[in-house]
Amino acid sequence: MFRLIVSSTRCLTGLAVLLAAGLAVISAPGQTAAPAAPPLRVFDPSLIDKTIDPCENFYRFSCNGWFKRNPLPADQASYGRFTELSELNRLHLRQILEGAATPVVTRSANEQKIGDEFASCMDTAAIDKLGLAPLQPELDRIGALKTATGLPALLAHLHTIGVNAFFGVGSAQDYADSSVVISSYGSGGLGLPERDYYTRTDAKSVEQRQQYEAHVRKIFVLAGEPEAQAAKDAEAVLAIEIRLALATLTITEQRDPQNLNHPTDVLKFQKELTNFSLAEYVAAAHAPAAGKMNDSAPKFFAEFNTLIADTPVEKIKTYLRWQLLHAYAGTSLPSSFDQESWNFYAHTLEGAEKQQERWKRCTSRVDGELGEALGQVYVARYFPPAEKQRTLEMTQAIEQAMDKDIDSLDWMSAATKIRAKEKLHGVMNKVGYPDKWRDYSTLQIVRGDALGNQLRVHAFDHARDLAKIGKPVDKGEWGMTPPTVNAYYDPQMNNVNFPAGYLQPPFFSGKEDDAANYGDMGSTIGHELTHGFDDEGRQFDKDGNLKDWWSKEDEQKFTERAECMVKQYDAIEAVPGVHLNGKLTLGENLADLGGLWLAWIAWQGKAEAAHVDRTATSDGYNPEQRFWIAYAQQWCTQTRPEQLRSQAEGDPHAPDEYRTNTILQDLPEFAKSFSCKKTAAMVSAKPCRVW
Ligand SMILES: [Zn+2]
Repeated sequence: MFRLIVSSTRCLTGLAVLLAAGLAVISAPGQTAAPAAPPLRVFDPSLIDKTIDPCENFYRFSCNGWFKRNPLPADQASYGRFTELSELNRLHLRQILEGAATPVVTRSANEQKIGDEFASCMDTAAIDKLGLAPLQPELDRIGALKTATGLPALLAHLHTIGVNAFFGVGSAQDYADSSVVISSYGSGGLGLPERDYYTRTDAKSVEQRQQYEAHVRKIFVLAGEPEAQAAKDAEAVLAIEIRLALATLTITEQRDPQNLNHPTDVLKFQKELTNFSLAEYVAAAHAPAAGKMNDSAPKFFAEFNTLIADTPVEKIKTYLRWQLLHAYAGTSLPSSFDQESWNFYAHTLEGAEKQQERWKRCTSRVDGELGEALGQVYVARYFPPAEKQRTLEMTQAIEQAMDKDIDSLDWMSAATKIRAKEKLHGVMNKVGYPDKWRDYSTLQIVRGDALGNQLRVHAFDHARDLAKIGKPVDKGEWGMTPPTVNAYYDPQMNNVNFPAGYLQPPFFSGKEDDAANYGDMGSTIGHELTHGFDDEGRQFDKDGNLKDWWSKEDEQKFTERAECMVKQYDAIEAVPGVHLNGKLTLGENLADLGGLWLAWIAWQGKAEAAHVDRTATSDGYNPEQRFWIAYAQQWCTQTRPEQLRSQAEGDPHAPDEYRTNTILQDLPEFAKSFSCKKTAAMVSAKPCRVW
């Protein structure tokens, strides 16, 4: 639950907003299918704009054709090649779900679940007719709270049904010993995407907070409160959330595992929470009542302990009511709630102009809730075993490239190199889908009960997560569902994960040559691998323990080199007045640069072995040029200014334009392939290089 430092390939801003909206991946705002388009390709010459000098703006040169062909759809905050493929996957998922939704006796148990959940989500007439009634028992439960002494049991119940009130508890690998699963308590309870939304003082942020307060008010009105009361209640919610936010670590601070690692034990933690009976809480939440645990946010829990004592219980109830409504306002409550939630989170914060069609949001919901039941059918239909084999081979080639790269580093000592290689060779590669599928047999999905299903899914997930505590780590478990168009590295598992949904055009294709595939998917494999050695990942050893394996001198040299990239990205003004955050984006930028470099040397090895003719052109470009163009074309993305702003402020990934141009400016090998002059915009006078 508190895997805060898993590093992925893609921008997760959208996801962060969804989680903040309490929608999880259940009702992703704003994604739509592109109109019927030509087949997706890894290297696509038709996207190139020859009127642009590749040495001046390689991103525009590689992507302008795609921009012209793909105007930003009204229901999108941003639209790029990842969304392009996600939309295609979604069409495939829809076919599966519509088939499973037909109630025939031959349906398997999993088909019954995914089919009936999809049908329940699509049945807006039934949802509208029921109104708030299915949530009434939960609202009544909050209403029945008389004094703060009843809070622990109530909060425990709300947490089991997925309500993000105050804090969270879940399972986590022990930072000191990654083979052990302990309980972990972390900060939570915010309705805006992250804590800085509550603290920034610029005019735009102040306006966003006012808009947020208005949104909370409108939700209370929809729930039946008179306007004046709703306004007061919204004010109370914001006051509580501001206090929680001020005690929450910034997203940059959360990137450093040292800031999150505060081992303690449950009984000791219990003594610190003088105003909250943790014993009652853990009993009701079915969390461990004793034993080792991690408190990932001591400052936050100190403030929580004070807040619940000095805040009138009526205000706490108001806050809980808001968090409950907020958690279910997506596809389970009547369309008025759904619409208002979209209006604030997708339209106001991200700039989308139209709400995404219902079937798309319901597909995302089933993928989020029952991803491995749906994924099992998806993989059987759309992921040929040969694709898995080719990806594994590429991963091995890139690992060998990294081995060679470590040997060649002039700044790292021999002793640290040995440990780096141990870690590299300890990385586990997971491709496509889990070897063992999740068992949903105890989860009941009832057709026509969208809200009840959502309650049961949360309870199932919560119980499943807590059941891991005290058991051996399951290294085969996946943090993304098979149809996901993304990838990630997990530092405590020391594994890289490439879901099946990602391993297809425009990112990878058995029909394309190595130059294109290495420039595109190869750079992603290198990216994930490099996360094991970025500013966060390098703090974990080969077994995933948070344990320093660097000599002081090597660490200093690493930090000096990384500082070059911090400065480089700090200098970029993404939207007027908003610069990128070099420290926040450092891990991703290191992974981008290192990953592309590794893909390049891996491909060099392959090309040499295969005697590839470097001068032979195909579609007008030689293999080296196609390698770089394929890299750039994976990042073609259109983004609304609102979304670009929120990405610059809070996403650990730099916007796609810089993931292309800034990275390539640091690689003289790129400039050589296009014969760029030293003075060209795409050539840095002082390139950064770590790995
Ligand atoms: Zn990443």
